[in-house]
Amino acid sequence: MALLEAKDLHVGYRTFEGYLHVLNGVKIEVDEGERVGLVGETGCGKTTTVKTILRVLPMPPAQVQGGEILYRGEDVLRMSTHAVRDLRRREITAIFQDPLQALNPMFTVGTQLRDILKDSKAGRDGGRLTKRDIEKRCIVALQETGMPDPERIMTNYPSQLSGGMRQRVCIAEALSREARLLLADEPTTNLDVTIQDQILRKLDELVDEKGTSVLMITHSMGVVRDLTQRLYVMYAGSMVETARTKELLACPRHPYTQGLMKSVPRLTGEGISEGIPGRIPNYLEPPSGCRFHPRCEHVMPVCKEAIPPFYAVDEDHFAACYLYRS
Ligand code: SF4
Repeated sequence: MALLEAKDLHVGYRTFEGYLHVLNGVKIEVDEGERVGLVGETGCGKTTTVKTILRVLPMPPAQVQGGEILYRGEDVLRMSTHAVRDLRRREITAIFQDPLQALNPMFTVGTQLRDILKDSKAGRDGGRLTKRDIEKRCIVALQETGMPDPERIMTNYPSQLSGGMRQRVCIAEALSREARLLLADEPTTNLDVTIQDQILRKLDELVDEKGTSVLMITHSMGVVRDLTQRLYVMYAGSMVETARTKELLACPRHPYTQGLMKSVPRLTGEGISEGIPGRIPNYLEPPSGCRFHPRCEHVMPVCKEAIPPFYAVDEDHFAACYLYRS
């Protein structure tokens, strides 16, 4: 059984203009100890997917229209509020792009970190964490994110820190929870390149040491190449391709993924990257059938009629595209 399995997830938002059908049958699986990447353009529904899994989407205006999110076989969408809160405290943790969503402006960094450590696995199971242990662990957790002067930062409120520092605090908090699954939504976007590298290495260590599963949401192909074993590519609210990361990056099969790969900036002087013509569709009136068809150079009549299912293109490699219909 997969640790996390989202099946045929449909999520939308009611707005004054009409209904935005944002997630259109999303499927995703993360196994125990696995590192999975989710890539796609900004606005394709990656963050909505993460927030739906955590049940933190504001409802209304958001609405889950259908589907299941199974965590160790139990449907998160049907759990009580109390059970979901417990799940977020002990089993699933997240790092978001915007650190202000995660930090409480009323408490110092130290207070927030200490609370997490008291409730961490070591605190719960062993019950042996003294005040001194907790203090030391807080400092180490901040140091591991590359935070300068962690003793002083412990006494600061989030509003006294820069955006990058707040993000490091969020990362320290998430890593301190010792959760089974980490949802990392563009966790290093606001950090310097050198710190990004440190943080990604830390995440890598965490997975190896503690067997934590990771769902890494990003638009950076470099990040998924280094950190993940398997990859999902998302376009306009649907998964369009999935495979082992190495294979998918070496041989993308869906026309959207191929375009995405051509959009990666080149540093070798071979000219400007080609990119994908057009833009992500308006969710108020999404295109019929394959949502990529207005931008696809291979479009066929069938593409406009029905949503393509996943077709096997290789071993453990699937693409939602009629080009691979046998
Ligand atoms: Fe292009 Fe059709 Fe494949 Fe969609 S299903 S990506 S429109 S060829």
